Amino acid sequence: MVSELADRRDQEFMLFEMFNLGFYSENVKFSGFNEQACRMLLKEARKLAVNEILPTNKLADVENGHPEGVLFHKGEIRVPRSYHRPYRSYCEGGWLAMCDEEEWGGQGMPHLLAAACLELFMGANPSFLNYPGLTHGAGAIVREFGNERLQKRYLANLFSGKWAGTMCLTEAQAGSDVGALTTKAIKNDDGSYSIEGNKIFISGADSDLVENVIHPVLARVEGAPSGTKGISLFLVPKYRLSEDGRTTDIRNDVEITGIEEKMGMHGNVTCTVAFGAKGACRGELVGEENKGMKYMFLMMNEARQGAALQALGISSASYANAVRYARERVQGPDLKEAFSSDARPVPIIQHPDVRRQLLFMKAFIEGNRFLSYYLKWCHDRCIFVDSAGEREKYQGLIELLTPISKAYTTDKGIEITSAGIQVYGGYGFIEEYPQAQYYRDVRISSLYEGTNGIQAMDLLGRKLGMKKGRAFMDLMGEINATIVFVRENGLDEMADGLENALKKAGEAAVSVGGAAMGSRVLDAFAVAKPFLDILGDLMMAWGLAWRAALACSKLGSASGKDRLFYQGQIVTAKYYYGIHLPEALGKMDAVKKVTDAVMEMGEDCF
Ligand SMILES: Cc1cc2nc3c(=O)[nH]c(=O)nc-3n(C[C@H](O)[C@H](O)[C@H](O)COP(=O)(O)OP(=O)(O)OC[C@H]3O[C@@H](n4cnc5c(N)ncnc54)[C@H](O)[C@@H]3O)c2cc1C
Repeated sequence: MVSELADRRDQEFMLFEMFNLGFYSENVKFSGFNEQACRMLLKEARKLAVNEILPTNKLADVENGHPEGVLFHKGEIRVPRSYHRPYRSYCEGGWLAMCDEEEWGGQGMPHLLAAACLELFMGANPSFLNYPGLTHGAGAIVREFGNERLQKRYLANLFSGKWAGTMCLTEAQAGSDVGALTTKAIKNDDGSYSIEGNKIFISGADSDLVENVIHPVLARVEGAPSGTKGISLFLVPKYRLSEDGRTTDIRNDVEITGIEEKMGMHGNVTCTVAFGAKGACRGELVGEENKGMKYMFLMMNEARQGAALQALGISSASYANAVRYARERVQGPDLKEAFSSDARPVPIIQHPDVRRQLLFMKAFIEGNRFLSYYLKWCHDRCIFVDSAGEREKYQGLIELLTPISKAYTTDKGIEITSAGIQVYGGYGFIEEYPQAQYYRDVRISSLYEGTNGIQAMDLLGRKLGMKKGRAFMDLMGEINATIVFVRENGLDEMADGLENALKKAGEAAVSVGGAAMGSRVLDAFAVAKPFLDILGDLMMAWGLAWRAALACSKLGSASGKDRLFYQGQIVTAKYYYGIHLPEALGKMDAVKKVTDAVMEMGEDCF
């Protein structure tokens, strides 16, 4: 087990050299976050991640009922006992509400810096992080859409971690199709609502870390339209609140009826929850009736970007372990001396195939780190910029890139952690070593917060054509600016490659987008996921070329470890452009053709 999680030098490169976090403090909105303060916060986050959170990762990776794991007893959940201490540190350090207003106990931190901290925390223990992560999402809904009364009653206790928050959408018959939910809400004379229904797969639905648990529940008010149009959002506490927002000892008819045994993420409990089985569950409406899906989307978008950071954090930890192992594990002679009788075995990092796997991991981690951080940088731009037009541009980029980041980074996370196992050989499959857990834990990220197939449909059906394709054109404009920068730094071949990829991805977008709006809608959606994948490949090409050009511009004056780092950036991009981009270009051509093979395949032919 290594204590290094995400690569420190690479995180700093992204934050301070690519996205200029050190200059944020020139803007009054981030005046407290000069470079020194940002570096200190990042150091503190790393310390907490390594010293307190990471040691709980393996400890809590046990089946339900194990003394170190999740326990379900008499309707109550006990989370892994090792989580209590880091949870206190996490909350007391203000990490739960990093970017929120001080008024509610937040730190007012830039989103970009928070992304780097979250990557570290997620890499240290993703199961642990889901507890405060969901709590933050529930708080964000109240902050954004709750009236003053709701804000006063809920927000400070959620953002301080005194109470936990969840996210209650899924029902047995309503998974991807949230509109099929049947949980009912009946308005009472006092303005509250009686909630009745059963939710499944609810993460962190109960916990002994906190005094109270607040469930944002999607339900349908009697007589509301069917589908997503008739869904409203309610806050349902485990214990009822007093008028001034304190936890009382009156239970609110919210019952944990069971917990799931899972393939991974063992330390994060997944529950079935019965609301109002005894007819005594009360909830408070958030905002207006029938606008629940809109409100929940705020939480879901945060959770989708969070799922990408989760996969990134786990991938980074898997890579750090793989590099360490490949340096230490000695096996087989150097290929050049393979036939010499006195050849000595060498560390496996010297074998070309192992080095290729490490470079695969590094390239996609760094490309995806760029993608996640860029998204958060766009969030910060929305705060920075004065013009409404600029703000709209960055908002559009966030909306367009969120499904790409969620699906691409989580899918790559599965491949990267699989490569992490491969580097370990047979030991990768053995639970005593860390790689097997990373692979099991990352697997969920492509499923929850909307499966990756649903992300692809969101991209093609909603985001691509949004505002007549404005966001997609803005993205192309941003990439074009990088192409100029890459040329200026003498990487002409790479600039040509990026230009070609941009052109082909643009052509595929026109073709698939056109098919989706015409008579070939089914064929178009059959290639929605490959279409999302090629845009992800394009994002990798963009990020890695930008990184390489920046490294070129700094190489001349660099020495020692910095020089090695910059050289590594250039070679990583060269590897991606040499091995993966040609494959991606082929995929772009294929996607553009919008095959009819998928829908031609009759159901009975399977
Ligand atoms: C560990 C874990 C934690 C979870 N935590 C939470 C939580 O905290 N809160 C919560 O509300 N939910 C939670 N979920 C539920 C999760 O979000 C759902 O499992 C997920 O949205 C998929 O729904 P489903 O499992 O019913 O699959 P289904 O919707 O049945 O999907 C099955 C397959 O069909 C595909 N599919 C479905 N519909 C379509 C369509 N229209 N077009 C194309 N393809 C389609 C899907 O992509 C998928 O591949 C959790 C799940 C797990 C396993």
